[in-house]
Amino acid sequence: MLATGCGPSGPKTTVVPDGTSVVFLTIDTLRQDHLGRSGHRRNTTPYLDRLAAESVYFTHAFAQSSWTLPSMLSMFSSLEPAIFGVTRGVAPLDKPDKAGKLGVEEVVLEYFSNEYTTLTEVLNEAGFVTAGFSTNGHLRVEQGFAQGFAVFDQVTCTWEKAECVFEIASDWLDEYVAVPRDRPFFLWIHLFDPHFDERHDGDLPSPLYTPARGDEELFARPDETSLPLEERTRIAYDRKIRHTDDQIALFVEDLRERGLLDGSLFVVAADHGEEFNEKGRWGHSKSLENTLVRVPLLFRTPGGTAQAVVDAPVSNMDIAPTVLEFLGFDVPDAMRGTSLLSALRGEPLEPKVGYGETRRFEFDYRFRIDPARNRKLVLDMHSGTRSLYSITDDPSEKTDLAAIESHTADAMERELRDEIVEMESRSASHTRRDSLSAEEIQHLRDLGYL
Ligand SMILES: [Zn+2]
Repeated sequence: MLATGCGPSGPKTTVVPDGTSVVFLTIDTLRQDHLGRSGHRRNTTPYLDRLAAESVYFTHAFAQSSWTLPSMLSMFSSLEPAIFGVTRGVAPLDKPDKAGKLGVEEVVLEYFSNEYTTLTEVLNEAGFVTAGFSTNGHLRVEQGFAQGFAVFDQVTCTWEKAECVFEIASDWLDEYVAVPRDRPFFLWIHLFDPHFDERHDGDLPSPLYTPARGDEELFARPDETSLPLEERTRIAYDRKIRHTDDQIALFVEDLRERGLLDGSLFVVAADHGEEFNEKGRWGHSKSLENTLVRVPLLFRTPGGTAQAVVDAPVSNMDIAPTVLEFLGFDVPDAMRGTSLLSALRGEPLEPKVGYGETRRFEFDYRFRIDPARNRKLVLDMHSGTRSLYSITDDPSEKTDLAAIESHTADAMERELRDEIVEMESRSASHTRRDSLSAEEIQHLRDLGYL
């Protein structure tokens, strides 16, 4: 919902060509360090690497959660999950504080309140033609995700591959260009491919991968069975990233041929990464390690004219303010991220602290990124255990500095706890009783979500 007085006030002084559209591509479960651009040893992302060279590429972007729903809502609202309160998604009625085993169809459903304003709403109000196409069934209309979208399809390609969602997005673009108009578009596309999925994954005997039903050519081959489980799983993951990259190439080159790429701000982001037993865990949601919260982020300005590599830590919450400021709109006061426009202009960024959390399943972890101290603190809210890492010197988070630098850890913990209290004091209503179909519940369970 747009609050009175904090919506767009129309284009201000701007270098953006009139009618600039926005394409926002989000990729589920894409670790920053598995991109070729990050020096990964397999050629996973030749196309995204090329796109990054035409863009402003952020090497230290942090997601606000390590699973889809809160992370994506943070991107669109520029708010922390602790404020909008969608942290678990669904939970059984008898254990509303815990998404454990779900044996009933009635649930407590968390939803994103329409008291908050999203990027899409601002653009929709400003006259953009808005459309969103998603492959992730967590990003549901029923949970408030579609706020501001004139067209929103989470159904046609739910849990499907990139080919499906790019096809419906291309069909929508066909319709958009068929009508002469002076309204730019905001097109959001969410890809699911790197995420594990029993229908798409190979025959790896892994906690993440169940027997194959097709697509074997993308995944494990018999000659790889001598490799350790972690390595085989990473190979399967990398093949899916490469598949994603190949499909992105087809879509973006089509945009280029239509003349739509150079008329658009093109943004690529990811909601979280994946753990491959680096610290005893598989999958995501269960920690806030860099394997999960450090994600790729790039902004390709129209014509690819702004090109830079930015190493300063930034947040996915910064995406919405950046897009709005780039287009010349006022950023709603309620948005708490920081515009990265100065970086798109080639100027240095002011250091700003970052926040993230996971409260899924039985976990409650929070992190604080402090660029001025060059430290990331992770706090277990249940046990009080904390970890402290150097942001730039220890990206793999092998050396926990919490004991060695206890004064820094104390100070950062205090600041983090104060921030949590402040955020939770602003939180709006965000739960209601609801029901899911047995099929929906079964699929979420198959994916390991319930
Ligand atoms: Zn996700």
